[in-house]
Amino acid sequence: MTLKNLGSLSILLGMKCNNKCPHCFYFPRNDNHMPIDLDMLDDALKSIEGQHSIYSVNFAGGEPFYYYDVMLECIERLKRHGINLFSLSTNGSWAGSVEVAHEKLTELLRLGLGAMYVSADGFHQMNIPLKNVINIIRAGDIARASGENFNVCVMSSYLGYYTYDCEINRITSKIRRKIWEAGLYPVETFVNAHGRAAYLMPPELQVNKRLDRKCWEIKIGILNPAGPSMVSIDPAGFVDGCFGVPLGNLHKESLNDIFQRYFNNPGPIVKTLREKGALGLKELAVERGFVAAESYFDECHLCHRARNYLKEHCSDEFGEFLNPAACYPPVLDNKAHPFEDWNLAQLY
Ligand code: SF4
Repeated sequence: MTLKNLGSLSILLGMKCNNKCPHCFYFPRNDNHMPIDLDMLDDALKSIEGQHSIYSVNFAGGEPFYYYDVMLECIERLKRHGINLFSLSTNGSWAGSVEVAHEKLTELLRLGLGAMYVSADGFHQMNIPLKNVINIIRAGDIARASGENFNVCVMSSYLGYYTYDCEINRITSKIRRKIWEAGLYPVETFVNAHGRAAYLMPPELQVNKRLDRKCWEIKIGILNPAGPSMVSIDPAGFVDGCFGVPLGNLHKESLNDIFQRYFNNPGPIVKTLREKGALGLKELAVERGFVAAESYFDECHLCHRARNYLKEHCSDEFGEFLNPAACYPPVLDNKAHPFEDWNLAQLY
């Protein structure tokens, strides 16, 4: 087995978050908010020692700052495995002042944090003051002025693409201008049709019919048959090749065994994605009663809608291959698909 492609890990420290963004990869649930088990991570990395090329780790969640002490210890442990490049993705809700942001950052920088990705857009700022994001930018300025090699990167998500004209994107553009006026150029990205966002895409953006690209052609190295470039590990032990597509679970088997299976016998979902892509999943689902639309936002959109169907209607056959549960409906507010009729105006 060779894992030479495996260059990075995304570690989901815990799934607690103060926001319920409508474009999140995850559906909000009253899930267990326990942090990730660091011994489990240690064991996982030991089991593939000498085989992988992991040099960087991004911490996410949930909101990783709910798990600040766990994150600090996790960095210490990962360094013992020879990993030295760390970043994190945050919504900034914890940064109520420059002083707080600076204090939290100082400890992370001491351990070698290289970058912080902060969300700022019409989705996140429904609940989080933009001031918090500016506080983090200022704390980053202070750190760099004292010689730290550290970057704050503000990420702004647009629905569809940044010139698509809708209320949420107009708000995001205003927010980006404010970030730019604060001295930082925000990076524009777009909402991926994963998880909750698979129900968010406006019909006029669901125009693609070809949909024949494979996962690793859409997103660098995702589920690449020659070995994935990145996997995420969540607090329930799932090792995900993509959101909701687990390669295995560390509470049941070693990471080495999980990757052995990835190469030799990956299960029906990964096998189908590998051979036929999202169109293959559509075929599987249609054979079992799924009514497919004529077109979708992209392959991932079709993939999620087909997987959601299989999870809901064929769980005996596919349930164990479609996890963690938080990547799939239903949601807590008693609506099966709360964003089918989502009105962008309610963002005001
Ligand atoms: S097609 Fe599915 S598995 Fe592949 S990258 Fe898109 S969402 Fe992930």
